[in-house]
Amino acid sequence: MTVATGKTLIGLHALSKSYGSHIVLNEIDLEVSAGEVLAIIGPSGSGKSTLLRCINYLEPPSGGTITIGPTTINAAQPVSRVELSSLRRRVGMVFQSFNLFPHMSVLRNVSLAQERVLGRSRAEADERSMQLLSRVGLSDKAAQFPGRCSGGQQQRIAIARALALDPEVMLFDEPTSALDPELGLEVLAVMRELAESGMTMIVVTHEMGFAENVSDTVMIMADGRIVEKGPSAEVMRNPQHERTRRFLRAVH
Ligand code: ADP
Ligand code: MG
Repeated sequence: MTVATGKTLIGLHALSKSYGSHIVLNEIDLEVSAGEVLAIIGPSGSGKSTLLRCINYLEPPSGGTITIGPTTINAAQPVSRVELSSLRRRVGMVFQSFNLFPHMSVLRNVSLAQERVLGRSRAEADERSMQLLSRVGLSDKAAQFPGRCSGGQQQRIAIARALALDPEVMLFDEPTSALDPELGLEVLAVMRELAESGMTMIVVTHEMGFAENVSDTVMIMADGRIVEKGPSAEVMRNPQHERTRRFLRAVH
């Protein structure tokens, strides 16, 4: 188990998202404590990616509120650029596809946003980048281009890049789905270390081992709703809902 403090860091209230008449998120209520690791599992199309994308406003929600620390954003009201950039700075995101800049060195990939977003000097940014590359086991790749790195290494670089903005929470959307299993393992090891260091994390994953052994809490989504949520060992070993049982049977 990781270091959850019990203090709510993220609160979603009646968070909804529709595309036309298609309700993709149906009034989601969710609280995540500081230091908690929440795994989200569920069938394809259940709204998991949309939920993560709404939390940092890559998609504007159709309704509801998002609270992160002291800040609440209400989807019914216009959001200023300042609010948006403050929200995004505090929420790091890692996608299935790594989206590194191919024409920049690994070091530059991790440093760039620190200069642009946080106003760090190049020397400060590079120093922080080297710390983070070392943390994900890739300090020897700093001068390489991403294309020379394996998929697992590229995903670890993407994690370092997200951490470089000192986020309060990290969102992961199926970070190992595009990787061969052995390369996925090295990414999962980095994520486990991050979890144990006390980072608050929301992880959409098909890795049942991660959900059961690393996350504190597991949430199952289906059809834009939360079917079941609870301590990971309980949900994974003794699911209460038929929908959860069916899903777990299908993936095991
Ligand atoms: P999951 O990540 O659980 O597989 P998604 O959040 O990607 O699910 O998608 C949930 C539903 O929302 C799907 O039915 C998908 O087709 C729909 N959807 C997602 N993004 C869009 C979009 N930009 N426009 C229309 N429908 C979308
Ligand atoms: Mg998805």
